[in-house]
Amino acid sequence: MSFNIAIDGPAGAGKSTIARLAAKKLSFIYVDTGAMYRAIALGLLRRHTDIENEEELQSALDTIEVGIRYEEGEQLVYLNGEDVSPLIRTEQVSDMTSRSSAKPRVRAKLTRLQRDLAARENVLMDGRDIGTEILPGADLKIYLTASVETRARRRYLEQTEKGAACTLEEITEDIRERDYRDMHRETAPLRQAEDAILIDSSDMGIEDVVSEIIKLARARM
Ligand code: C5P
Repeated sequence: MSFNIAIDGPAGAGKSTIARLAAKKLSFIYVDTGAMYRAIALGLLRRHTDIENEEELQSALDTIEVGIRYEEGEQLVYLNGEDVSPLIRTEQVSDMTSRSSAKPRVRAKLTRLQRDLAARENVLMDGRDIGTEILPGADLKIYLTASVETRARRRYLEQTEKGAACTLEEITEDIRERDYRDMHRETAPLRQAEDAILIDSSDMGIEDVVSEIIKLARARM
């Protein structure tokens, strides 16, 4: 039996950095489900798909294949065989991801892939609905959050370091909008599972959060 850890939470809470480090320490596979939704969004953008048109959305999804592979412990995400990992972190893709991931057809496409991985391997999977929908029986569930101000500041530093032109106000607004959409959509909205442990990282360093997760995981293994 594989051991599964689910980490959910809003954008910018530090989930992927923390999950990556914790998975490494535990020798688990880190599964970044956001990257899978981002790859689909990129595919939809490239096809100029009108996602509000269900038929058009379905025929686009029929031509989109998402896969993941691991290279030296890093997850790479593939769109129809092309490694799109460096192309999926733009604000344009983030915006399309948050809109398209609300569509049940898009979610259905990734549910099986994520569950199969978790059934085969010890995984630390991060996303929005892992503890609530994808792996309701996960061995450990964490809900990782931080204040909007903290998350916006972190995202702003990340973007400006990459040379992206943006303001803190724009990023804050974008995070608020994505939170709202992720939490209020009908299908698999972001919420804390009843049996998830809440960690607020606003005043915690990355290493502190990682240690806390490792401690919780070891206690249950
Ligand atoms: O985690 P990340 O910020 O890369 O996710 C991008 C977007 O993908 C989120 O804002 C959310 O709309 C969507 N997502 C989702 N379910 C997941 C992971 C991500 O709906 N399990």
